[in-house]
Amino acid sequence: MINVMCVRVVSAIATNCYIVNAVGSSEAVIIDPGAEYDKLQAVLRDNKLTAKAVLLTHAHYDHCNAAARFQADGCKIYMHANDLFLLESKENLAARHGLEFNCFKPDVLVADGESIRECGITFKVIHTPGHTSGSVCYVAENCIFSGDTLFCLSVGRTDFATSSTEDIISSVKELFALEGDYFVYPGHGDGTTLDFERKYNPYVRT
Ligand SMILES: [Zn+2]
Ligand SMILES: [Zn+2]
Repeated sequence: MINVMCVRVVSAIATNCYIVNAVGSSEAVIIDPGAEYDKLQAVLRDNKLTAKAVLLTHAHYDHCNAAARFQADGCKIYMHANDLFLLESKENLAARHGLEFNCFKPDVLVADGESIRECGITFKVIHTPGHTSGSVCYVAENCIFSGDTLFCLSVGRTDFATSSTEDIISSVKELFALEGDYFVYPGHGDGTTLDFERKYNPYVRT
C-alpha cells in the first residue's frame, strides 16, 4: 500500500508535486519536485519523511527545477533520455519565466516498460511522448502520475520543443488501454480517474 500526498503548488505556473511512500515507511519518492525545494522539505519534515529519489515526468523547469538540490541531498534522479536536451536549453522554459535553471545530471535514464524499485515501491514507466518527446508516466499500484500528458478533462500543451499532438493522443490512448481503473495524478490541476477520462476527456476519444 502506498500513500500519495499532493503538494500544490510548486511553481509559478501551478505545478503539482507528489510525495509517495509505502505505508509504514519513512522513505519517500518525489515525483516532480517543481521549483520549491524549501516548501517540499517542510512537508517532508512535518510528515517525518526523508526523500530518497526524484522521478521526473519530463524536464520543463516547473517540474524539475528543485531536482538539483534534492540530488545534492543524496536523492537519485530519474528521467527519460529524450528530455536531456532540455537541461541545456532555453526550451526548459525557465528563462521564459525570468528564472535561472538549476542544471543537474540524472542518475538513471528510464525506458518504456521498465520497472523502478525505490523506497519499497515499484513504479512502472510508460513512455508517453507528445508534450515533450521525453515525457513519461509512472504507474504505482492503482495510481498513474501523468505529468503533463493527461489532465482532468484535458491533455498537455503541444506547442513546445519536441511536442507532437499526434503523439500525445496516441500516448493517452495507451494509458486508456491499461486494464481497469486508476487514480490519475496530473502535473497541473485536479486529480481524476482513468475511467472518468475514458468517458469524458474531449481530446481523446476511444
Ligand atoms: Zn511541461
Ligand atoms: Zn507543467
